[in-house]
Amino acid sequence: MPGVSAPLPGKWDDKGDARIAAFAHYDEAHRPADDVLTEQEIAEVERWPLSDAQRTVLHWAEHAELREYDDGFWALDCVPDRWDVNKRVARARVTGLWAAGLLDVHLDSSGRRLVKSQKGRRVARLLGRAERQGVAEAAAKDAKLTPLPKRSGGYPLLSEGRYFKGEQQPADDASPAEPTAVPAPAQAAPPAAAAVRADQPLLRRLFAPRTALEQRPAHDIRTVIRRPQRVLTDEERERVRDTALLNLQGALIMGITDPVPNPSPMPEEAGAWVREHVWPEHFQKIERKYPHGFARWSMCERGTCWNCLSGRCDLCVHRQKGGPDVDDNRDWVRNQEGRFIAPLILRPGGESCVWWCRCACPKDGPTPARPAPKEAPAPADPPATPAPAPAPAATPVRAPEEGALQATLW
Ligand SMILES: [Zn+2]
Ligand SMILES: [Zn+2]
Repeated sequence: MPGVSAPLPGKWDDKGDARIAAFAHYDEAHRPADDVLTEQEIAEVERWPLSDAQRTVLHWAEHAELREYDDGFWALDCVPDRWDVNKRVARARVTGLWAAGLLDVHLDSSGRRLVKSQKGRRVARLLGRAERQGVAEAAAKDAKLTPLPKRSGGYPLLSEGRYFKGEQQPADDASPAEPTAVPAPAQAAPPAAAAVRADQPLLRRLFAPRTALEQRPAHDIRTVIRRPQRVLTDEERERVRDTALLNLQGALIMGITDPVPNPSPMPEEAGAWVREHVWPEHFQKIERKYPHGFARWSMCERGTCWNCLSGRCDLCVHRQKGGPDVDDNRDWVRNQEGRFIAPLILRPGGESCVWWCRCACPKDGPTPARPAPKEAPAPADPPATPAPAPAPAATPVRAPEEGALQATLW
């Protein structure tokens, strides 16, 4: 319960079980102490006859991650004892809660995130108490909520190419007045867009229940996995620019110009130490030639494909391939001189490790528009290196002129 914490005797293997135990304990020991609702509060409860599903959305907005993508709303990683479970959320349910002021939209580097507003938190707490005290149960059907006057204009859906005031609009989109030719949600083929939350707590990754493996869909590599993009710092951009052309091409093809390290139990300095002192010298030679190293990156850590980096999402390599690059699940055990002595099967269960280009562009469905040809720069202007934009990857890399990185690369 908010603000109260008490250790419970016992041991649970599973977060879900622990949660049930906690609730049972609460029921037994603390429920009577829950402030009894006042008449006023009961009247307020009546005004929010939220269904179970609506309450769940509010819960996700706080305890998981509720996000909007081009193909709709998703609750990411929303099952406490399983990981990477993402659920599509009915559009009207989210927009209704938003219009009524229970949810707010936050814009961050990965796009739109919906969070509980202050009012949303208060209403959720109130409904929780009402339910515990047996005053009101969840309604069978979604409540039709009255929109706040300032939100009565409706929610600007991404799927309709609409934007919030002040929201960065991808440069290749049509003006907001003219809703771009977006696919009707109905025809948007099976939601290829499960997403993975960016800040997955490390411990959950490492110590997910063993059964999590079985619970994952049977290695469905076709599901687009959305991973956060790396924002290159000025120093890193400098390093990319200084990379020898051949290696730069290699890095671009492999998506390691902007790779994102997975969470690791080993701190970065320790990793650097291992590379320096344990890895054979010839590894380090290759390592130094690439802007962010070479052999240290696994398939799922690769970044944005080179076409998307240059603003050509219509040619995104994984759109063209119709799927991600898949790791061959094999590495090598080496002796002290760095020679192969045995193959190593990395994931005995055969789970796939894949690279989905991290660009936010849709990887299937209608092809995004080709960017308009750039106007030739005035010849008087010598190739002045464009001032590095602070964060090229923070916004979807759709705009061709986005960030100095792309400009310098091509
Ligand atoms: Zn793209
Ligand atoms: Zn791409």
